Amino acid sequence: MTYFKLNKPVQFLKGVGPSRSEALGRMGIFTARDLLYHGPRRYDDASTIQAIESLEVGSEATVVGTVRSRGVISTKSRLRIFQAVLQDQSGMITCAWPGQPWIERKLQDGDVVLATGSVKFFHGRQLQPREFVVLGRSGNHTKAKELSTGHIFVSYPASEEIQQWVIRGVFEKNLESLLGSIAEEEYLDSSQLKQLTLLGIQEALQALHKPDSLEQVEQGRRRLAFDELFFLQVLYAMGRHRQTTLNTGISFQRDNKFIASLHDALPFDLTEGQVKVLREIFGDMSSPRRMNRLLQGDVGSGKTIVCLFAMLLAVEGGYQAALMAPTELLAEQHANTLGRLLEPLGIEIYLLTGKKSDKERRIILQSLKGGQARVIVGTHALIQKGVVFEKLGLVVVDEQHRFGVKQRMALGDSELAPDTLLMSATPIPRSLAMALYGDFDLSIIDGLPVGRKPVKTLLYPPRKRNEVYKKLESELMEGRQAYVVYPLIDDSDKIDLRSAKEGYEKLSKEVFPNRKVGLVHGQLSSEERDEVMQSFISGETEILVATTVIEVGIDVGNATIMLIENPERFGLSQLHQLRGRVGRGSTESYCVLIADPEGMAAERIEIFMKTSDGFILAKEDLRIRGQGDFFGQQQHGRDPVLKFADLTKDEDLLVEAQHRARSLIEIDPGLKSPEAQPVVELLGCRYADRLELFSAG
Ligand code: ADP
Ligand code: MG
Repeated sequence: MTYFKLNKPVQFLKGVGPSRSEALGRMGIFTARDLLYHGPRRYDDASTIQAIESLEVGSEATVVGTVRSRGVISTKSRLRIFQAVLQDQSGMITCAWPGQPWIERKLQDGDVVLATGSVKFFHGRQLQPREFVVLGRSGNHTKAKELSTGHIFVSYPASEEIQQWVIRGVFEKNLESLLGSIAEEEYLDSSQLKQLTLLGIQEALQALHKPDSLEQVEQGRRRLAFDELFFLQVLYAMGRHRQTTLNTGISFQRDNKFIASLHDALPFDLTEGQVKVLREIFGDMSSPRRMNRLLQGDVGSGKTIVCLFAMLLAVEGGYQAALMAPTELLAEQHANTLGRLLEPLGIEIYLLTGKKSDKERRIILQSLKGGQARVIVGTHALIQKGVVFEKLGLVVVDEQHRFGVKQRMALGDSELAPDTLLMSATPIPRSLAMALYGDFDLSIIDGLPVGRKPVKTLLYPPRKRNEVYKKLESELMEGRQAYVVYPLIDDSDKIDLRSAKEGYEKLSKEVFPNRKVGLVHGQLSSEERDEVMQSFISGETEILVATTVIEVGIDVGNATIMLIENPERFGLSQLHQLRGRVGRGSTESYCVLIADPEGMAAERIEIFMKTSDGFILAKEDLRIRGQGDFFGQQQHGRDPVLKFADLTKDEDLLVEAQHRARSLIEIDPGLKSPEAQPVVELLGCRYADRLELFSAG
């Protein structure tokens, strides 16, 4: 392996040394390369920085100035305020940090400071910074002067131990030589760069740290984003290659014994979207390549029936098929639905959950091993020790994001190398799916079955709650059922939110004393929860008060109205999942939000009311909440750290990166060719730990 110059420990850079290198280590910076890729978190230039003299009361402003005097004052009400006078070439202003006297220790006379905040009036103009950065500790005016020459100020992520100005100083001393060393790590030649309209790596990092313009920053970011996405996709492509070729898969033979009968017996036609994904799935299954596919479809798009066809193909070919669901309730529901459809075909369905008695379990395990059981539905119980299949050919995992990577793969880890189909009911934007599941092939069911009436979504302020209750009562009068959803289980004295327990008390005793009201939340044991849910499914319980535990997959066609309290507390995707619980039949259904939203929350709720397309909502959610949050929710053990890529705007790069990575691995799976060597080396720098996984296997 070549030794890249940038592999050297950061400690040996000018101005770093042992103690600073330890502090940098705690920020995840160990090598010279780590430092070079430690990009600024904000950029300011003449277009964002204002002359102090020009600041207007009531506005938001960013200034750069030198600290001329400082001190802590106390008000009559004993509030301690740190104040500092900042000066630039145009004038002076007092900056005040109410309640933050400790800032006195952070700012010294002569420091050059960048401060952002609102301009107020207290005995004259005053800036109250939300954020400030010490740019330099030199005490001269050069920084302020650079402004007029179109200079761009960068602010780095810093820490308590190692401040902004120290990091800036380290870059001032080392940037040039670091940039010199990065040149040897370029793996794209000039024609490729041109094709991709990307900067060279050296230029890109120069633009990151010392841009001439903000547009240049963006160009640099795109190049670094491409690298991130490309290497991640190479990793995925390797995993995919291993999954699909090293273990040769099964070529399922279709004899139409069951598939045609099921198709004829269905009371509806498959949608175009369903037909399209089935073609993709059947294509995979009948090829000798092992299937590794992620099926996405909006709530209600009909994934269950699609997976049933896939399972039947396996059965026709003489194999067993298993469907794993994240909860017992969902597993039971699937067993019921599938059981009804399979009965006329003479196929018995087996259900294995943690609830089965030892004796039942023994019998089921015997039929799995003996091969009498062809179609099996279950929970995690399916992947426990002692579960042995006679000839498992297809594994379907429903609501796959609720499982960890290991669990998801456990069923497929047998010698038979069964085909794998993961299903996800939480639509995620295509870009995110590609970034997270790049080792899978992606099938998306477009559109919903025809004739489905969109759920009417209404917004009522809390003071009109009684009108909403009247509406709910009129649905019950028609023999329908209702959900009432709360963000919390218990009362919380900290925040003014309604809770499920409180709501249950009020609804069952005061508002609907003559109706049967049930309560379900995550603190119930699974038996208690099942009991409540069964009563709602059977129609005995008319109103179900709930927290988000009902979010996943519950299908009660007779429920036509849902009330959501404090909807501003839920993410858009979550709201979408909740709303998907009603409107499952052909009658008009309602989702009533009870809220008085303001600001950001109002924006979100407006989007939610306007569209019922889960993919659009997911995209908005990604835009509003940012990818960090999204990854957190989606990944469970998959953690592509994307520092530069922005999935809301880099879809084109992602497509390109995946395409290039897959062709590379297809042509040269072991990355043995001389041209692939730079990629191998750089992959090692980024993903040493993951690569061990590959070589070990
Ligand atoms: P999801 O994709 O959310 O899991 P389901 O598979 O539970 O959705 O399907 C939702 C409902 O739509 C079910 O009652 C199912 O029988 C019905 N359904 C599925 N496909 C069609 C279709 N092509 N036409 C009409 N109804 C369908
Ligand atoms: Mg489903």
